[in-house]
Amino acid sequence: MDELIQRAAEDLAAARNVVALTGAGISVDSGIAPFRGKGGLWEKFDPMEVAHIDAFMSDPARVWNLLVKDLKETLDTASPNDAHKGLAKLEEMGKLTTVITQNIDGLHQAAGNTDVIEFHGSFAWQRCLDCNQKYETSEVDISEIPPRCSCGGILRPDAVFFGEMIPQDAMWRSRQAASDCDLMMVVGTSAVVQPAALMPVYAKESGAKVVEVNPERTPLTVETSDYLIMGKAGEVMNRIIRELEQNTGKP
Ligand code: NAD
Ligand code: ZN
Repeated sequence: MDELIQRAAEDLAAARNVVALTGAGISVDSGIAPFRGKGGLWEKFDPMEVAHIDAFMSDPARVWNLLVKDLKETLDTASPNDAHKGLAKLEEMGKLTTVITQNIDGLHQAAGNTDVIEFHGSFAWQRCLDCNQKYETSEVDISEIPPRCSCGGILRPDAVFFGEMIPQDAMWRSRQAASDCDLMMVVGTSAVVQPAALMPVYAKESGAKVVEVNPERTPLTVETSDYLIMGKAGEVMNRIIRELEQNTGKP
């Protein structure tokens, strides 16, 4: 691993426009369970089913109870970990321009990144199925499930469920960012949810290096990634940043 940390630091030092693609794994150290991998929600139920828009529409109370309620309680108090902070530091150092995230937890913005494309929307808001009125998630009273709007309509997260379209703007901007970068860091994503998993492919096709950070191999590992640094996002990012700071002579 030492060699790969060194290599990543050198690649980052040489890069001019770094873009990150992140997934649920980057937020595991902040106490938020991923879908797949060890400790993932998949071990309890099939997220493709529970997090599908059809499941929500046919039984909102069930999806609120199985998925959304816990997520709200966790996110009400979650804070960025070393991996989020490492990406913020890369922006501060003038390397990283954009974070494309599949996460809905808002932790990249909380860490200080200023250009965050939320590919799957955001959990910060809930909206009414009937009148579209929005409510800040942290303010929503969940003593009754499903929570309701003042008009009586049911509230849903303002995030993208499986089976729903990716917001056009997020799709377009992500493609652009992926094609423009010269190094893409792919951190904590299983890279099986499409079309998000295509972003590293676009980066690669445009000549960028693709560096993966994940404790497990993914479908990108063989064909698309230049190399995989096998480890937890927080530890790996800390080591890369330390190495990079030494290379560039900063304290
Ligand atoms: P995923 O759950 O499919 O995969 C998680 C990946 O993270 C796995 O490859 C796993 O090996 C890796 N991982 C686990 N612990 C890690 C660590 N400490 N450091 C680095 N990597 C680690 O996640 P996905 O690819 O993002 O796709 C799932 C979908 O679920 C996404 O669309 C996302 O929107 C949604 N989701 C979001 C959150 C969140 O906002 N935090 C949480 C769960 C699911
Ligand atoms: Zn309403």
